[in-house]
Amino acid sequence: MSEPAEKQPIEAPETEEVTTRRIACDGGGAAYGHPRVWLQIGDEGFVECGYCDKKFVLKPGSADH
Ligand SMILES: [Zn+2]
Repeated sequence: MSEPAEKQPIEAPETEEVTTRRIACDGGGAAYGHPRVWLQIGDEGFVECGYCDKKFVLKPGSADH
């Protein structure tokens, strides 16, 4: 609720917890389907898909080495 609204508040971006820093997103194959892209989670601990704005958050305690 305290997140800054930097984008249209119409569609709340999905957030998914992942256990690896390298993940692929294809939009879920639904309304936001898009070509599969590979994303790399950096030191921030999360990454957002440039196509569908889906946010991938690295689960705390995940092995990243
Ligand atoms: Zn995506």
